[in-house]
Amino acid sequence: MRIGIIGAGQLGQMLGYAARDLGMQCVFLDPSPSPPAAACGEVIQAAFDDPAALSTLAETCDVVTYEFENVPVAALDEISDRVPVYPPPEALLHAQDRLTEKQLFTRLDIPLPGFHRVDSQADLEVAAATIGLPLVLKTRRLGYDGKGQFVVKTAEDVSTAWQQLGGAELIAEQWVDFDYEVSAIGARNRSGDIIYFPLTHNQHVNGILHASRAPVEDKPLTRNAEQYLRCLLEELDYVGVLALELFVTGDQLMANEFAPRVHNSGHWSIEGAQPSQFTAHLLAISDASLETPELSGYAGMLNLIGVIPEAAHQLQTGTLHDYGKEPRPGRKLGHFTVIAETMAERERLLDEIEQTVT
Ligand code: AMP
Repeated sequence: MRIGIIGAGQLGQMLGYAARDLGMQCVFLDPSPSPPAAACGEVIQAAFDDPAALSTLAETCDVVTYEFENVPVAALDEISDRVPVYPPPEALLHAQDRLTEKQLFTRLDIPLPGFHRVDSQADLEVAAATIGLPLVLKTRRLGYDGKGQFVVKTAEDVSTAWQQLGGAELIAEQWVDFDYEVSAIGARNRSGDIIYFPLTHNQHVNGILHASRAPVEDKPLTRNAEQYLRCLLEELDYVGVLALELFVTGDQLMANEFAPRVHNSGHWSIEGAQPSQFTAHLLAISDASLETPELSGYAGMLNLIGVIPEAAHQLQTGTLHDYGKEPRPGRKLGHFTVIAETMAERERLLDEIEQTVT
C-alpha cells in the first residue's frame, strides 16, 4: 500500500513511522527542502497545489491524505476523481473557516460559545452588544495556536481590536470561563466503523498546547464528547482521524474547533495506545478494520517549543521525540511522552521532565 501525504512536517513524520510499522510506503508533497518527514519517506519538493506533483501522487498512490489544515481544497478536488482522498475535502472546507465550522456545530446541535460574523467595526459593536464582553475576535481563516486573536475586554478595546485585525474576515466569539480543555479524538474507516481514543486533557500556554494527559476519567463527559464526535464524523461521511477540541465548564462541554487530521493532543498515543492515532488514521484511510485503542497506562505528553535543551537528550525519563526541525521561538520542535501506572506517578515524571527542559 502506497500512501500519498500532502505536507511533510512532524505529523507527516509520525504518520510515516507508523506506516513503516504497518509495511506501508509513504510519499510526501512539501515545498521545504528538508522537512521532518524526509526521515521516513520520499518527498516530492513542490508547492502544495503544483499540478504535476499532485498528478504524481494521484498516479502512484493508492490513497492520498494530508497532515495540515491549510492545504488548498482546490488541490484535493483536482485529484479526488483519480485517487481516493481522505479525510473528505468537505471536512477541510469547514475546518478552514471558523464561521462555517461553527455553523456546522450549530446545525448538529453541538453546544458552542455564542458567535457573530464580523466584517466591519459596526459588526463588532453589534457582536459586543449581543454576545457580551469579554469576547475573542478571531480571524476566520489561517489562525492557529492562538494567532490572529484579540480579547476584547471593554468597549474601549473595540476600536483597537478592529485596528489590529480589521481587513481580514473575522468572527467574534463569547469568552468562555472554562475549567479546563479537552480533545475528543476518533477515527472512522471507509466502512463507517468508528473508534474513540479516551478523552484527553489539554493545557495551553499562550494559546499553544503545552501538555496533554489521558485518559480523563469522567464517563458522562466522555459519553457526551463521543456523541458529538460521532455526529461530526457521520455528517461529513468522514474517513480518517478527527480531533474535536472542547471547553469543559462543570459538567458541560462546548466545542471550540475541530481538526480534520491527526492532532498534537493525541501524540501520547504512540506509546500510550494500541493502535496510536497515526496507525488508526492509516488503517482508516486504507479500508482496513479498526480496533478500539488499548491503553498502556496513564499517559502524559509535554511539547518542546522553541528549543530542545541538550539535557533533554540525556534524560532517562519518558520518550523524547525530536522532529529534527531548526529551532525558532514558538516552533514545535519535539515532545516527551510518559506512561505510568498511576496518575501520581505520571505527574512526577512530567514534573521531572519539565524541570529539565525549562
Ligand atoms: P484556538 O486557536 O481557537 O483553538 O484558540 C487557542 C486557545 O485560546 C484555546 O485552546 C483556548 O485556550 C483559548 N481560547 C480560544 N477561544 C476561546 C474562548 N472563546 N474563550 C476562552 N478561551 C478561548
